[in-house]
Amino acid sequence: MSHVTITRVFEIDYGHRLLKHPGKCVNYHGHRGRFEVTVRAPVGADGMVVDFGVIKHALGNWLDAYWDHAMILQAGDELYERMRDMGMKVYLLEAPPTVENLVQHFALDIARGLLRHADEALVLEHVRLYETPNCWADWTRATTKSTPTFLSMATYE
Ligand SMILES: [Zn+2]
Repeated sequence: MSHVTITRVFEIDYGHRLLKHPGKCVNYHGHRGRFEVTVRAPVGADGMVVDFGVIKHALGNWLDAYWDHAMILQAGDELYERMRDMGMKVYLLEAPPTVENLVQHFALDIARGLLRHADEALVLEHVRLYETPNCWADWTRATTKSTPTFLSMATYE
């Protein structure tokens, strides 16, 4: 039985800043993040790798809860505690919240486990995260260590 990949797109709005950036990215600003999540599995008797709704449920709910309309900040950012105390939606990373770090954290620490929990036959193959229509980062299973990145320190509850 051959394996096939399928891809589901998610879009969210998020804010961040890069603390040591020498240019304008040191300012708080927002992005329209576009995720292209590709999974692989054998095609079942139903003709599907997996129902697209399973991916939507597993990953869309997490993105809605934690990153959509959230401020994603690095540990040490003075705004984190203030925003949290104000009841704002904030998400803390140990590493700078660059598109490269966000795609790694999402793929390794979040999506892989959620997908496996939803259907153990699913293998996360690839995640592309667009920060803008012209700029993106790719995480690919074959070229990435399988150990979690441990980028996350705390999350919005
Ligand atoms: Zn940015």
